Amino acid sequence: MKLNKRKDCPICGNLKVFYLDKFWRCSKCLYQFADPQDKSFTKSYYQEDIGLLVQNVLEGKNPKAYLRKYATLATKTIEQLKKGLRICDIGCGTGAFLLKLEEGGHKVYGYDINRAQAEFARKKNGLRHIRDAQSLRGYCRKVKIRREFFDVITCFEVIEHVLDLNKFIEEVYAYLKPGGIFILSTPNNNRIQMHEKWDYPPIHVSRFKKMNMELLLNKHNFTLKTFKTFNELGYYSGNFIAKMNISHNALEHMVKASTDISSPQKSSRNAQLFMLFSKVKKTACWFLDLPLYLFLNMQKEKGHTMFVVAKKIV
Ligand SMILES: [Zn+2]
Repeated sequence: MKLNKRKDCPICGNLKVFYLDKFWRCSKCLYQFADPQDKSFTKSYYQEDIGLLVQNVLEGKNPKAYLRKYATLATKTIEQLKKGLRICDIGCGTGAFLLKLEEGGHKVYGYDINRAQAEFARKKNGLRHIRDAQSLRGYCRKVKIRREFFDVITCFEVIEHVLDLNKFIEEVYAYLKPGGIFILSTPNNNRIQMHEKWDYPPIHVSRFKKMNMELLLNKHNFTLKTFKTFNELGYYSGNFIAKMNISHNALEHMVKASTDISSPQKSSRNAQLFMLFSKVKKTACWFLDLPLYLFLNMQKEKGHTMFVVAKKIV
């Protein structure tokens, strides 16, 4: 998709798009998309992201303690289906979510663009089908998986990073069985906006609302089964603190310099310090957010994250 030449909306094809604050915006379906400028930068970002390094240290101790709300919602959705399903998680990280599903009697597969995370999932968490890969097609070729293989494909907080949106959904469609289930989560562009740093290119290259998400899925022969939005305590205060940049970056660099990804038990006191700092921050944010959280939960479709379940049409 050469967006530098084509400025029509990748979802609805509308030619009336306008550029504002680093995003092209479709006037019809309200989808927002960035020009994919430097792919190499995007890739290196996923290999070096400090948040992921810290997560490895944390998850090395207790993998399932850090699952977020979308993982819980997806687990509930999958529990209503049959046992022994083939489930693939795109952007699986160290595989905490897949570990939980495996315990539930499912056959789990997945890949992550971050090599260290995929290796951690395979070697430390014992998830033998996990690999590092750049795309679903690339992963399936690597582990010799045929088309229409999976019962369920999940991807949490991934689609907003994807440069070629249509190709991404086409691949999901191709590797799902007829009637297969696609579960995803992504930031809801209908939330209260704080101009969050992470919601800009090269980190996020797409912003979705319910309308364009449904259009995108329908366009690729999926029907929308569930659409809901949710809030998590600590999200808004956490973003506010991140905006102020309170000594967080300095600490992150300390952790990065002293974190041994292959042996989290050897991780230094700096990592412990970072974890303690993160816990204190999280608790403080939790309390700060409580009134806002209760208010926001009364607003339909305004939650900061959307949770979507779609079914492949036969
Ligand atoms: Zn559009």
